[in-house]
Amino acid sequence: MEYISNTLIEKTKSALEAATDIVILTHMNPDGDALGSSLGLYHFLKLSGKNVTVISPNSYPDFLHWLPGDDEVVEFDKKSKKATRFISQADTIFLLDFNELKRIGKVGEVVLENKKATKILVDHHPNPVEKCQIEISDIRVSSTAELVFHLLSSIDKTKVSDLAVSECLFTGILTDTGCFSFNSSRPSTYEAVATLLKAGVNKDKIYDNLYNNFSADRMKLLGFSLDSKMKVIKEYKTAYVSLSREEMEKYNFSVGDSEGFVNFPLSIKGIIFSVLFLEKKGHVKLSLRSKGDFPANEVAKKYFNGGGHKNAAGGESKLSLSDTIERFESILPEYSQLLK
Ligand code: 5GP
Ligand code: MN
Repeated sequence: MEYISNTLIEKTKSALEAATDIVILTHMNPDGDALGSSLGLYHFLKLSGKNVTVISPNSYPDFLHWLPGDDEVVEFDKKSKKATRFISQADTIFLLDFNELKRIGKVGEVVLENKKATKILVDHHPNPVEKCQIEISDIRVSSTAELVFHLLSSIDKTKVSDLAVSECLFTGILTDTGCFSFNSSRPSTYEAVATLLKAGVNKDKIYDNLYNNFSADRMKLLGFSLDSKMKVIKEYKTAYVSLSREEMEKYNFSVGDSEGFVNFPLSIKGIIFSVLFLEKKGHVKLSLRSKGDFPANEVAKKYFNGGGHKNAAGGESKLSLSDTIERFESILPEYSQLLK
């Protein structure tokens, strides 16, 4: 398999044969890939007769709650005792779609306390930080869900063709490629998708569940954001949108409502760097997107305590919203070579 060595596949097989109680962890504010890869793996392991629990550090948007197995996901911030018990008792812990414990907040401390569990990382972000017994990590692959697909297909193709497994993995691939608009130039992605469609995945139903499921308020917030809150800085091929808590509350903001907002400025001719600033309680959350070679993740890492992929990154700031924006504008000249 081009992304996973035979040694790693064999190691994973042996680890799974020995496993009884398995926990699957994914990152904070999980997206379609985080939950799709986790639940795809969950159903596969259930079919293999294992005790499996998926733990999310916190809540996630409504448009992901239709996923098969959603009812079984334990949200750490709501049920921390229960989640802690599962993590402490696990003999095997999967870390999916992240590579540093910082990305799972308080859950990380509980993971570190369980020294006996075999830890298996499956991820596609650059520069893995966490040390695990098994590390399956490749930045070329579209999504963690695709990597899970290749891993599981090498172990047992029949179980991958289970409809629940296939729907979850398809969701991860679809969302992490922005419906095949980025991270999706390699044939392996379409080979995986072809197999998932053959297994019975209804692409149109899944697309509808994910993208045609918003409130009217969300559409109005999008209109307001682009009309009144977008600043285009032509000189640096940059555009950004910022939203205060008050503005979000006015549109009855609920988790997931700003999903995709950051991508819109990139469709302006000449814009290659886009940022969304969201004011949260006590901090500002940044989403950064870029086109081509501009490293959004380096800006996130250097200035906003974050990271991610070259073209899709995130971070946060403890400054006020206006100070964060001021700071952001002040660093653009440093990148003038790349943004000219
Ligand atoms: P989003 O803007 O959708 O929250 O995140 C985009 C990408 O950046 C995702 O791949 C996500 O894993 C990564 N990312 C988001 N926030 C953070 C963060 O605070 N730290 C790091 N290291 N990566 C992040
Ligand atoms: Mn991902």
